[in-house]
Amino acid sequence: MRVTEQLAELREIRRSLPGTFGFVPTMGALHAGHASLVERARADCDAVGVSIFVNPAQFGPGEDLGAYPRSRERDLALLESLGADLVWTPAAASLYPPGYQTWVTVEEITRPLEGTCRPGHFRGVATVVAKLFLAFTPDRAYFGQKDAQQAAVIRRMVRDLGFPLEVVVCPTVREPDGLALSSRNAYLDAEERRAATVLFRALCAARALYDGGERGGEALRGAMRAEIHSEPLAKEEYVSVADPGTLSELDRVEDGALLSLAVRIGRTRLIDNLALEGNGR
Ligand code: AMP
Repeated sequence: MRVTEQLAELREIRRSLPGTFGFVPTMGALHAGHASLVERARADCDAVGVSIFVNPAQFGPGEDLGAYPRSRERDLALLESLGADLVWTPAAASLYPPGYQTWVTVEEITRPLEGTCRPGHFRGVATVVAKLFLAFTPDRAYFGQKDAQQAAVIRRMVRDLGFPLEVVVCPTVREPDGLALSSRNAYLDAEERRAATVLFRALCAARALYDGGERGGEALRGAMRAEIHSEPLAKEEYVSVADPGTLSELDRVEDGALLSLAVRIGRTRLIDNLALEGNGR
């Protein structure tokens, strides 16, 4: 496995790797969710590249950029054990040189959900992912369903700008009690960690209603809200039952609809989602 900080060296190594190339962008503090993307890329492609970059442009003022967990040596050991070929760990100043002023803005689909709570977030995400695509020139790029809106934004950007690559979205990896793995779970103390299961419980409550025949969007949103409000350490930021393509809220829910939510547990902001799959009713 080759590890570099330098763009020129990255390009040189990339050019030397024959066959199909799979790319997994990450912010480090790697866990089994990230590992699942690398494993999928490893299975699909001849060579695999990973970026580790805590992207300042996607953090708002007052968010956790400074506190975001960093574990470079452990991350590199994990990537080596997973069979990654190439890891890029760029410095922020090389991706955003002095005077930087070029941004990728995806419009409608970035506005609801995370876009409402984190203005500017997806401009930072789309910009850095476009820059990473230009650097790695992958044939396939792997993203987690955990960040469903992010995956939708990247798909839109790839289509709109004509990046010659395939976006592959992989299932959310969860703890045995349902909590979606996230680097931010490291912020939770023991009591908050217990309370954090409320995200998955709320999604399951809405899914159970749907499976029982309920088709009203507001009823499903209400079920999620009730579950969140029953947990004293949890504070709702949003609950959503949306069209998976446009992310606009649904009055009438159908198979494929996306249940999603953002919840604060103490000072930690967590997100999760589930796609509703039909049982024919
Ligand atoms: P991050 O390091 O948080 O920017 O995440 C890098 C990639 O890993 C993104 O595509 C995430 O959606 C994905 N990811 C994060 N957590 C999970 C998870 N629990 N299961 C699957 N993919 C995940």
